[in-house]
Amino acid sequence: MKKINIPPSKHVKVLDGQGWVGLIDQLGTEMTILNAARVSFGKMKESMDENDIVLLDYLIKNKHTSPLEHIVFTFSVHCPLFVRGQWHRHRTWSYNEISRRYTEIDLEFYLPEKLRKQAPVNRQASVEWENCDFGEFRTMMKEHNDRSLKLYHELLAKGVCREQARAVLPQNMMVTFWATVDLNNLIHFLELRDSEHAQWEIREYALAIKKLVSPVIPNVAKILGWQD
Ligand SMILES: Cc1cc2nc3c(=O)[nH]c(=O)nc-3n(C[C@H](O)[C@H](O)[C@H](O)COP(=O)(O)OP(=O)(O)OC[C@H]3O[C@@H](n4cnc5c(N)ncnc54)[C@H](O)[C@@H]3O)c2cc1C
Repeated sequence: MKKINIPPSKHVKVLDGQGWVGLIDQLGTEMTILNAARVSFGKMKESMDENDIVLLDYLIKNKHTSPLEHIVFTFSVHCPLFVRGQWHRHRTWSYNEISRRYTEIDLEFYLPEKLRKQAPVNRQASVEWENCDFGEFRTMMKEHNDRSLKLYHELLAKGVCREQARAVLPQNMMVTFWATVDLNNLIHFLELRDSEHAQWEIREYALAIKKLVSPVIPNVAKILGWQD
């Protein structure tokens, strides 16, 4: 059996190479969207032409969304817990995740290359921190990770169960999950998460997903401006 916390062959690295998102599986093509739209007329086609691209554009721009639901993608995602928390707010996805009730191995922690400052006005935003030597902060974070991991192992060694010992592991712990979504809800996710309002870290994942799926749905990607 293979480990799932290893990136699949089709993947894009994010967060300075510490995280990744991979494309595990997909169902349907752009032709599927077009034929789902044509069900209304009791017709279907086998290959695409220029008129079909006009129809795709019409469906997307006029929010005729149900044909988009016939395309489905499964991703595997390796991200810090705090990104997972934001991602799992999207209820229209299906998720399965490595459980720390079952396993205590392969624990990793995300250590940012750069840190940002709190934005002065917007309470949920951050701003670039220019001319800062991040070494001191990174060392502090690394020491905190090491202490947490040590405490976790001490608790396990004393007989505490995994499901309670994990409570001492920090928010930057990396987790791996599978996430399946249809194209309509994926577009919604990408609109929210590849946005200047979203946190930089989850935005990295949204951009990576655009790179992964654009070759599969090139005309949709072009209509939505993903390839700009
Ligand atoms: C920039 C940003 C900041 C955020 N800040 C916060 C915050 O401070 N606090 C916080 O708690 N959350 C926050 N969120 C999370 C946000 O409120 C949503 O929970 C999250 O973006 C998921 O969006 P969604 O419900 O549209 O997605 P999905 O859950 O994927 O749903 C997609 C669509 O399906 C429909 N839908 C799904 N479930 C239901 C339902 N039960 N009833 C009716 N319609 C449904 C809706 O039309 C919905 O838009 C933030 C999100 C963003 C992008």
